[in-house]
Amino acid sequence: MAAQAFTFAVAFGRAPPEVVTLGHLATVADLKAELELLFDVAAAHQKLAGLPPRTDDATPLAALTLKQPHKLMLVGTPSAALAAARAAAEAGAAEAVGVDNDLEPPADEGDDDGDAPAISAEEVARAQARIAQRVAAYRPKMLAGFRGGKNVLVLDIDYTLMDHRTPAERPDAMARPFLHAFLEAAYARYDIVIWSATSMRWIVTKMAALGVTTSPRFAVAALYDAGAMIEVRHPRYGPGPVRIKPLPVLWAQHPGAAGPGNTIMLDDLRRNFLANPAHGLRITACRDMPRIRDSDRELAHLAVYLDAIAGAGAGGAAAPGGFAALDHRSWRAVLAARGYADAEADAEARRRAAGRGGGGDA
Ligand code: MG
Repeated sequence: MAAQAFTFAVAFGRAPPEVVTLGHLATVADLKAELELLFDVAAAHQKLAGLPPRTDDATPLAALTLKQPHKLMLVGTPSAALAAARAAAEAGAAEAVGVDNDLEPPADEGDDDGDAPAISAEEVARAQARIAQRVAAYRPKMLAGFRGGKNVLVLDIDYTLMDHRTPAERPDAMARPFLHAFLEAAYARYDIVIWSATSMRWIVTKMAALGVTTSPRFAVAALYDAGAMIEVRHPRYGPGPVRIKPLPVLWAQHPGAAGPGNTIMLDDLRRNFLANPAHGLRITACRDMPRIRDSDRELAHLAVYLDAIAGAGAGGAAAPGGFAALDHRSWRAVLAARGYADAEADAEARRRAAGRGGGGDA
C-alpha cells in the first residue's frame, strides 16, 4: 500500500497556519471535515482558496496537483449568532451527558457494546480503513515520548481534567481537584498521553495553562488531537455519525510502548471508547466547578485505582490479557474489595444528593 500523504498549511483569519495531513485515499470532502473540526467552520460553508478550479468535494486529493505542503486559505464566516446558537446547543448536549454521568449508578453503567444492536460488518470495515488512514497520515505532537516498560494512560481534557466552561479568572481555577497529584502518582507507572477532540493549538494552550506540560514532577509523552479521531455510525447513537478516539491508532503508531495489554483511557464520553470498549473508563463529568470543588475526589480515587491495576499491565503492550481482561466499569467496587471504600462512598453521596438511589430504592 502506498503510504503517500498530503500535507496542507491552512490559513484562517489572523492565526498562524494550521498543518493538516491526510492520507492517499482522502478526498476534498475529507479535507473539509478536518477543517471543520479545526476551525469550526461548517464544511458546507467553507471556501478554499488555493485548490485548482472546478475541484468538487468528491475529488480525490491524489487527482490534484499539490505542492507539499500545499498552502490554502480558508474563507468562512460563521456569524456570531450561528456560533452562539452552536455553543448553546453544545452546552445543552453536554448538560444531558453530564447529568447522565452524575446520576447513573455504577450498576447501570452496563451500556457496553454487547447490549446494543451489532454494528454492521460494512461499518466495521469502513472504520478499519479510517484507522489505517490515521495511522499512516496523522502525526501526534510528541513531547517527552514513551519511556518503555510502563503502562499507558490516555486522558481526555474537557470535563475530565478540567471544567472548561467554569467562569474563572485563572486557568488553575478550571482544573479538576487533585489534577497534579493524580498525574504525578500515575506517572510512576504510566506514560501519559493527552487526547482531546479539539485542535492541537488549543490542547497545547490548555495544558500549558494548567501547568500540565511544564511540571517538573511528571512528563507528558504525547498529545493527540481531533485529527486522529474517526467518524463511525453506531445504532446506539442514532443514524448520524459520531466521532470517536480509536486507541488502535495510538497502538499502531507506538507498538513497543502502547498496546491492548497496557493501555487505559479516561473520558467522560463513553462513545469515545467504541473502537476499544474494554480499555475505556468513563469518568464522572467535571462540571459546575463552584459546586463540586470541595467534594469532587474522582482523580484522587482513580490514582489509587491506576496503582491497583498497574501490575496487570506489566506484561507489556502486546501481552495477552493484561489490561484487556479488566472491567473498568466496576472500578469503584474493585477498590472497595481491596479495602478502599471512598470511591463508592462518593458515588453513593452523589446519588443521594441527586435524590436518587439513596435509602435502598436503587
Ligand atoms: Mg470530555
